[in-house]
Amino acid sequence: MHLLNEKAFVNGEWISAKSNKVLNVNNPATGEVIGTVPDMNAEDTQKAIEAASEAFQTWQDTTAKQRTQYLRKWYDLLVLNQESLVKILTIESGKPLIEARGEVVYGNSFIEFFSEEARRIRGEIIASPFANKKILVEKQPIGVAGLITPWNFPHAMITRKAGAALAAGCTCVIKPAEDTPLTALALMQLAAEAGIPKGVLNVVTSDRRHAPEIGNLLCESPLVAGISFTGSTQIGKLLYRQCSSGVKRISLELGGNAPFIVYKSANIDHAVNGAMVSKFRNCGQTCVSANRFLIQNEVYDLFVNKLVMEIKNLKMGNGIDSGVNIGPLINKAQLDKVSSLVDDAVSKGAKLLIGGKQASQYGELFYEPTVLTDVSENMRVYTEEIFGPVVNIIRFENEEESLKIANNTERGLAGYFYSQDVAQIFRVSRKLEVGMCGVNEGLISTAEAPFGGVKESGLGREGSHHGVDDFTHMKYICLGNL
Ligand code: ADP
Repeated sequence: MHLLNEKAFVNGEWISAKSNKVLNVNNPATGEVIGTVPDMNAEDTQKAIEAASEAFQTWQDTTAKQRTQYLRKWYDLLVLNQESLVKILTIESGKPLIEARGEVVYGNSFIEFFSEEARRIRGEIIASPFANKKILVEKQPIGVAGLITPWNFPHAMITRKAGAALAAGCTCVIKPAEDTPLTALALMQLAAEAGIPKGVLNVVTSDRRHAPEIGNLLCESPLVAGISFTGSTQIGKLLYRQCSSGVKRISLELGGNAPFIVYKSANIDHAVNGAMVSKFRNCGQTCVSANRFLIQNEVYDLFVNKLVMEIKNLKMGNGIDSGVNIGPLINKAQLDKVSSLVDDAVSKGAKLLIGGKQASQYGELFYEPTVLTDVSENMRVYTEEIFGPVVNIIRFENEEESLKIANNTERGLAGYFYSQDVAQIFRVSRKLEVGMCGVNEGLISTAEAPFGGVKESGLGREGSHHGVDDFTHMKYICLGNL
C-alpha cells in the first residue's frame, strides 16, 4: 500500500530497532495484523535525539521564509496523497472513512496554517526608559522538541505539534502511540519528499512497554528543550514531574470531562445534531467529546426522545465500508473500560434507554451506542472520561444548578451549551471552567483557534498563532550606550 512504511524514521533514514524487535499493528475493526514497526527503546531514542539536536544547529538558522516554503511543500504533498493517508488512518485506528477523511483534512490544515504562521513570529521593540538604551525582544526556537502523541487522532495530533515546532525553528523527536504508528510514518515519508532536511523530523516507534523509558529520556535529556504531550491525565502528570528536574518546557493536552448543557430556550434540533457529532465522532474517543449531558427539565423529554431516534440511525461497522459512521473502540482495554463504566452506572440505579452491551456481531471491539439517564454523582460515568459511545444524562432545574454540576470536576477542556438567550450565552460562557466553549455548536476544533484546557486538562495552547508560543522563548536584548 502506498505510504505504508514499516521502519522508524531517524535522521532521514528508515531504520529498525537496534534489537531488531518489532511490534504488530492491528486493524481494530477486524483484528488482523496490517503491518509491523520497530519496537524501539531508550537507546534507539537517544540516536534520534542526537540527530534532532544536530539538525537544530542549521534548521534554527533557516529564514522564516524558507521554513514557510518547506512546510508548504509538505502540505501540498499531504493534499496530493490525501486518500492514501485516509486509508492508512482507517485501517489502523478503526475510524470510518468519512471521519478519517475529516481528520486528514483537519491534520493537513495545521501544516498549511503554520506554513503561513512561520513568517509572522514577531519580536518587539519596547519603549525604553533610558535615552541611550534600546529594548529589543526576539523570539527564538527553544531547540529539540519531544512530541508524544495518542492514537485517537494519529495524524492531526502530530501535525498540530510538528507544524508549530518547525515554523518556530525547532526540530522534533516524535513518539506516536503504539496503536497507530503507521500514519506517523506516512507523514514522515511525505516530509522527506518535501525536502525537509534530515534530522528535523524523527519518529521513534515502540511498544507500550518501552514508552516509559522513552518518555523519561525525552523529559530528562539535556539535548531536549521541551515536551509537547497529548494523552491521558495520568501520563501527563508523570511527564510534568519528569520535566521538573531539568525545568523543561512542557505543554500538556490531557483528558476532559466536557459538559453538554441544553437550556430550555435552545433549538433542540441543533442541540441534538451537536450532541451527535460531539459524542459519536470517533466513537466517543476524543478528549473534547461531550461526557455529561445536562438537560433542563422543560426540554428533557423532547431532547432525549430525539437523541435516541438519531442514535438508532447510526450505522455501525468496519470503517472501510461505505455508509458506516460508527466504528469499533481502539483496543480491548478501552472496551473493558466502557463496559465497566456502564455496568457500574446501571448497578447504581441509572436507567438504560438504548445500547449497554458489546455489539459483537460486528467484531470484538464494537460497543453499542448507549444512553443512560438518571445519572448521579456517585457513578463513575459522572466523573471519569468515558472515551466511548455512551451518553449519560442528568436533569437540572436552573442555570445556577447547571453550572454547579458542569464545573464540579477537576478537568476543564471543552464545554458546550445550547441556548437562545443572549444574556445567558454571555453569562454561561464566562462561568464555565473550560479552555474551549462551544455555544450552539458541537464541533469547535480548527487550526485557527487555540486548543487547550484549564485545571487538570493541561497547559499551553495548540493551533492558532498562540500555538508557536510553546516552541519559542523570548530573548531580551538590551542595546546600550547609544
Ligand atoms: P491512552 O490511555 O489514551 O493510550 P496514554 O496517555 O496512555 O493515553 O498514551 C498517550 C501516549 O503516551 C502514547 O504515545 C503512549 O505510548 C505514551 N505513553 C504511555 N506511557 C508513557 C510514559 N510512561 N511516558 C511517556 N509516554 C508514555
